[in-house]
Amino acid sequence: MSAPKAVQRRDPKPRHVDPSTSEKPPRLVVIGASAGGVNALRTLVSGLPPAFPAALVIVLHIGSHESIMPAILSSSGRLKAAHATDGELLVPGKIHVAPPDHHLLIEGQRLRLSRGPKEHHTRPAIDPLFRSAAMTMGPAVVGVLLTGRLDDGTAGLQAIKAQGGIAVVQEPSDATEPSMPASALKYAQIDHCVPLASMADLLTRLVNTEVGPSALAAPEPAAHEHALSLSQGDPMEHLSAIASPSPFVCPDCKGGLWEIRDTQPHRYRCHTGHAYTLRTLYHAQGEETDGALWGALRALQEKELLLRALQVDQREGGDARAQRAENRMLVAQVRCSAVRTHLRASSSRRQAPVQEFGMFRGSVRRWGT
Ligand SMILES: [Zn+2]
Repeated sequence: MSAPKAVQRRDPKPRHVDPSTSEKPPRLVVIGASAGGVNALRTLVSGLPPAFPAALVIVLHIGSHESIMPAILSSSGRLKAAHATDGELLVPGKIHVAPPDHHLLIEGQRLRLSRGPKEHHTRPAIDPLFRSAAMTMGPAVVGVLLTGRLDDGTAGLQAIKAQGGIAVVQEPSDATEPSMPASALKYAQIDHCVPLASMADLLTRLVNTEVGPSALAAPEPAAHEHALSLSQGDPMEHLSAIASPSPFVCPDCKGGLWEIRDTQPHRYRCHTGHAYTLRTLYHAQGEETDGALWGALRALQEKELLLRALQVDQREGGDARAQRAENRMLVAQVRCSAVRTHLRASSSRRQAPVQEFGMFRGSVRRWGT
């Protein structure tokens, strides 16, 4: 899909690693995990050798909650882990962890922190890291997707493959939550699908392989999406280059969502930069519907209470309208009961939030509960 020239001129273009000018580009390992990710990451890093020759950059869905993941990972293996800081250089053998409430991006040989728009209703998200790594370091990137619900990371692995990188997923049957790696297997070209027990050895082998040539085709959708996530350029020009208006509304900002053309799974973006897949959008819409229903329940309960007081007042005053008020109060009671029943059924059906497990102030707990 080609973009208007005006957009092309303003867009940040991927910086390919050119083997002709680079003797041996260093490998970069980017890792994404969600539900079940704490234990999966501990297992993975425990098997990495102390002389691991590539930097590792990790996004775990932790939302805005305080995290002690670096301490946990440092104590789990022989590599040092720390929360990434803005502008920090990538260091071979170091584990750089996305801090709470920031996307973690790759820019050249440096890390960038961004409080840009959430993707999949979460920040940090996996896709922005993978996409920026693919655009910056091309075939040198090894993308790894571990356990997690829904499908953050699939589009990111597609971008990594489009630039000649290597895609690795945890074997879904080995994952606490198989959805994320299963989605990547379905929609992206995956080079290696292995259980956690084999992951450290595989990565150690991969980072010691020579980096292949850069992909010839620039990942134009990824470049437009990267610019949108960084609020660079004209958002409507970026969107019109890669997407078409959809009937859906962004759950984060209430702006119109555009469907990105020719993507599997179906993906959406608004002009402020929020991004969803069909599944994460459905999940976020479910939360919004619940919020609206709780608001309706509150209004109906208030109405019932007011009608109860009104009919008592009218009855004491001999007002003939008391019976009408009582009837309306009974109708409000029935409606309250119906909404409560729906909310109870909805909460029992609903899956856990996108942001699932994280280490918060020394304890593991479910986000959003
Ligand atoms: Zn939005």
